[in-house]
Amino acid sequence: MIPYKKVLDTMQPYKPGKPIEETKKEYGLTEVIKLASNENPYGYSPKVAEWLRSEQQLLQLYPDANATTLKETLASKNGVTPEQLIIGNGSDELISIISRSMLDETKHVLMATPTFPQYVHNAKVEGASFTEIPLKDGHHDYEKFLQAIQDNTSIVWICNPNNPTGNVLNSAELQAFIEEVPSDILIVLDEAYFEYIMAEDHVDSLEWLPKYDNILILRTFSKAYGLASIRVGYGIGHPRMIEQFNKVRNPFNNNTMAHTIAKIAVEDEEFLQKSRQLNAEQRERFYTFAKEQGLNIYPSETNFVLIETKRDANELADELMKRGVIVRSGNLLGTPGYMRVTIGTEQQNDQFFEAFKQLL
Ligand SMILES: *Cc1c(COP(=O)(O)O)cnc(C)c1O
Repeated sequence: MIPYKKVLDTMQPYKPGKPIEETKKEYGLTEVIKLASNENPYGYSPKVAEWLRSEQQLLQLYPDANATTLKETLASKNGVTPEQLIIGNGSDELISIISRSMLDETKHVLMATPTFPQYVHNAKVEGASFTEIPLKDGHHDYEKFLQAIQDNTSIVWICNPNNPTGNVLNSAELQAFIEEVPSDILIVLDEAYFEYIMAEDHVDSLEWLPKYDNILILRTFSKAYGLASIRVGYGIGHPRMIEQFNKVRNPFNNNTMAHTIAKIAVEDEEFLQKSRQLNAEQRERFYTFAKEQGLNIYPSETNFVLIETKRDANELADELMKRGVIVRSGNLLGTPGYMRVTIGTEQQNDQFFEAFKQLL
């Protein structure tokens, strides 16, 4: 018997949604839309497409292990220094780098529930203990978070906006919480949907960086930038923290094409703004639909909504799939009775509303 970590017996590999091609085959459909993984339905910057057509890559060379050019671009865009940045193979990899750098059997971490599952997943792999604090009326329950802090608590994970609920945390309340957390605990602000936030009272957490050495902001190219496949996410924090995490990071964790594409994407502000605007417009249609149909829906500052199903969510997701629409059942996300739907293009959303109406 090969001696794997015991905890693996209690874990499952990531369950991906059914791919489009497989769904077509299984149900004999010619057209299937995927609204299950919060990808950008408008694709990515046309400037990226242009580069992909034109460029000859030097595939025989190792990528720049320091991601120098991409870091310079991101640093200037975010008003930080390159030393404050770490680039991951998606922010998923950064979550595991952070966990691997900090956690073992003696450590404890905190997070909300439901939230992004990778925080718990990585804590388990490292043998750390964890406490999940249930959302209160859909919001982070800071009081309970503070009460749950132990002497060995080393990371507090905050997903903002939260996945799968989609709501953004009030900035003043979040800052008050950060003030209360002991300064030797790392607070990770996972902001995968940052670019979609429209709330006027939202404060960009970058403003807090000079004040708090114990926060790390995670952002990604997978969502609003429309580049989930290139696997680039980044962390912004204090240079001392970044230096530690860089010791754990595999040196060639991103490829050269990904570095270049991410840089081009950052420089195309127009595409980002267009996606953001179209997403906000389409998001309104989901609220209207929910109201008309008498369904509960969470207020979202992201490109997805969590919407009531009025019946078993797995069953509804299966029925929607037969009608060519792939969504994520809330049963898998800790929100039974709800499904998570990525906000698509106008036409994709029409198809979703039509299919859902037939099933209500
Ligand atoms: C999608 C998502 C991620 C992972 O993004 P990648 O950069 O593609 O790894 C991280 N956190 C949250 C909350 C997400 O929804």
